[in-house]
This record gives sequence, C-alpha cells and structure tokens, in this order.
Amino acid sequence: MSYACPRCGESVRRAGSKGAQMAGGLVGALLAAAFGAFECPKCGKISRSEFPPDVRRKMMKGSLGLVAGAVLVIVLVIVVIAALN
Ligand SMILES: [Zn+2]
Repeated sequence: MSYACPRCGESVRRAGSKGAQMAGGLVGALLAAAFGAFECPKCGKISRSEFPPDVRRKMMKGSLGLVAGAVLVIVLVIVVIAALN
C-alpha cells in the first residue's frame, strides 16, 4: 500500500525503524510499519499530520491491518511452541 506525498505527489514509503526490527523480528517490523513515519524520496520524512484527512483514515485502517498481522504472528508462534512441547 502506498500513499502520495502531500508536498510533491510522489509515492511515499513507510520509513521502517531498524531498531524495532532487530528487537522484535517480524512482529517489530510490522508494528514499526504500522506506527512509523512516512518517507518521500524527494522531500524526506513526512509526518502523518501533513496528509489529508481521508488519506489519514486509510492509513489508520492499514495500520490496524498490520497490527492484526502482528497479533496473528504472535498467536501462530505460541501455537507452534505449544505444539512442539
Ligand atoms: Zn514529496
């Protein structure tokens, strides 16, 4: 899912946090993607408040999907660990 930059119209990407990725693996990466900032190749970091309200609503839905994905991964890991023991 990509969004247009509010300043130049280029598509922005989620600026993932390397630290969160190292700390939490896949779950950390998903959560960082859900709550991290956006980055435009031309303008650099874009804060969420710069995007128009309807785009922010879409982002919120996308973030909820990512959080749901992270929860699913945690549940799967627990199920696998329980099955192995
Ligand atoms: Zn831009």
